[in-house]
Parts: sequence; C-alpha cells; structure tokens
Amino acid sequence: MFRPLKADINLSALRANFKLAKKLQPNAKTLAVMKANAYGHGMLDCARGLNNLADGYAVACMEEALVLHNGGLKLPVVLLEGIFSPREIAICHKQNFIPVIHQQHQLQWFLESDIQLEQVWFKLDSGMHRLGMSVEELTQASKQLKAHSPKTQQVLVSHFACADQPDHPLNQQQLDLVLSLAETLGLPLSFANSAALIGLPDSRASVQRPGIMMYGASPQENIPASELGLKPVMNLDSQVIAVRTLQPGESCGYSLTWQATQPTKLATVAIGYGDGYPRHAKSGTPVLVNGQRAKLAGRVSMDMITVDVTELGAVNIGDPVRLWGEGLPVDEIATWADTISYTLLTGVSPRVPRIVV
Ligand code: PLP
Repeated sequence: MFRPLKADINLSALRANFKLAKKLQPNAKTLAVMKANAYGHGMLDCARGLNNLADGYAVACMEEALVLHNGGLKLPVVLLEGIFSPREIAICHKQNFIPVIHQQHQLQWFLESDIQLEQVWFKLDSGMHRLGMSVEELTQASKQLKAHSPKTQQVLVSHFACADQPDHPLNQQQLDLVLSLAETLGLPLSFANSAALIGLPDSRASVQRPGIMMYGASPQENIPASELGLKPVMNLDSQVIAVRTLQPGESCGYSLTWQATQPTKLATVAIGYGDGYPRHAKSGTPVLVNGQRAKLAGRVSMDMITVDVTELGAVNIGDPVRLWGEGLPVDEIATWADTISYTLLTGVSPRVPRIVV
C-alpha cells in the first residue's frame, strides 16, 4: 500500500451491533443484510465475521448470493429483490437461496417449474408501493403455490416506507395490514429493518432484517448511533499529504469557492470523491486531524480535500486524518453532505483498501 488511505473494518464492532439487534427479538431469527458489498464494508469478511451469530443473510440479488456461496458461506440467503428469470429457480434450489416473490409473473415461473424450493417469501405491498403484491393477489398466490408445492415453507415479507420516523402515520397502517394478513394466512412474518426493530416493536416478528445498525450507523433520523449503543464498523482514515499557509483573500480548490479571512493553515488530505468521499460535503464538514476536529475548506476534488487546520497547532505531512468512524459519526458527515449514511458507506470506492481489524 502506497497511498495512505484505508477503511479499517472492525469485525468485533459488527458482531456487537448484530448482537444488539438480535437481543431485541431473541427468540426469532435475525438475518444480516449484506447487500451492496455489506453496505460497502466487504461482503465476505463481514459475513464470515458474523459466523455463529446470524441465522442467514439477505442480499439484493442472485449475483450477491453467489458471492457468499462461492466464499464458502452456507447459511440460507434471501434474495430481497426477487429473481429476474426462471433460470434462477434451479440455482435457488441447489444453493439454498430463498427468493422473494413480489409479482405475479414470478409466481408463474414457479408454477411452471417442477422444482419445489424449501422456502419462498411472498412480498406484500403494504404502502411503500415499490415492490409487492396486494392482499388479494398475495392470498391467491399463496394458495396457488401451496397447491403446486405443498412442502414449501412460505414466509410473508413486507417493508416500511417511513420506519426512520416512528411517529409517521403510515407505519401503523402498514403494521395493521401486514399483521392481519400474516394471521389470516397463518404465515411466519419478516417485517423489521433496523429502524423498525428499534422504533416499532410491534413489527418484530419471526425473522428480522437489520442492515444499517449492524454497520454502526443510526437508523433513526434524530437519535445518534452512540445513544443506541451502536459502534462504527468502518474507520475511514487517510493522512495529510501537503501543508501550506494562505493569506487573507486567497482561495482554494476548484472554482475557488472558499476564501481565507485570516492567515490560514491548510492541510491537503489524500481522499476525494473518487474514493467515495461526498462531492457535496459543504465547507465546514468536520474532519479529524490528529484526533482533533478541523473543517473541510473548499470543494472536494477527485483525489484530495483541503482542510483548515489553523486552530490545531502543529500539523505535518503524514499526520493521521479520520474522515468518519470512531469519534466522527458517519451520520454527521452525511448531514453535512445532504445525504444519508447508507450512500456514504456503500459509496466507498474499490480504490480504498478494506483492512479487517
Ligand atoms: N429489508 C429490505 C427489503 C431492504 O431493502 C433493506 C435495506 O434497504 C433492509 C431490509 C435493511 O434496512 P436497514 O439497513 O435500514 O436496516
């Protein structure tokens, strides 16, 4: 490694966060959501790190499930986005993958196949209107599949639109619809993501699907992760690679958007939007230099940022810089960049080495 930029991945923090999620519904199953390269943390390392803890994994699609399988992980894997062709049914059968059926045409593929899976999930559109069947469609689909594959275990699944705002009126509407259908059909239920697990206890059911909380970021809009007992799993760290002093009136970065109002010490740091640092982070976004808070100054470039370290005392080339992680929550950086922790974590580019610690 030559360039001093890395993402340390702390598997004990991942395990601690997972245990915390599991404890919220200890007698049920908890799947670790591993999609998008485990929210940018490295899918195989994280999946292995949860060995003996997770009851299975959830990913978006077959490609991701195969990464887990080929990496030697043999727990059940749920394909949350469903399948995109009938060919995938045979692979699900062979590899113990569980598809989500969210639309009639997928059900048809199962009815036309002579393969009977151990388990399938039926997705109800309970109000998010992204994926899922109506109550009537799902009831009919469940009956049809039961007639075709009597031994297949069916699970009802649904997803909240506003779980990060526990007081949102849609939450109760979704809960009422989903709980009543689960009871009518007599099916096990998977409903809760991280935000629901924490803020909507009635949604805790047979199978939970926490994602973001496992990685140590807050699923709730206004509760810091530390208050929830969550620990950051990723520490994104770089170093100072140049230092200069600007005179009042001098500017820095593309389009010279930031201007010094006093003699200013600027540190240049090896990270940019090409690494996944958000291009839209505003001047003032906190950065830890030598463990002390400093402020981003000017535009984020592809490979570098500049930071005002005037208040920090001695700052030299090679000094450590933390972009997010312990001591600097990723949620805070997300706010400064008008985005959410999910986009920052999943956006850490392949150029950044992940180092398991
Ligand atoms: N379930 C589904 C269907 C999802 O799409 C996601 C994430 O987007 C999750 C669970 C995990 O959500 P979170 O990361 O908010 O816990």
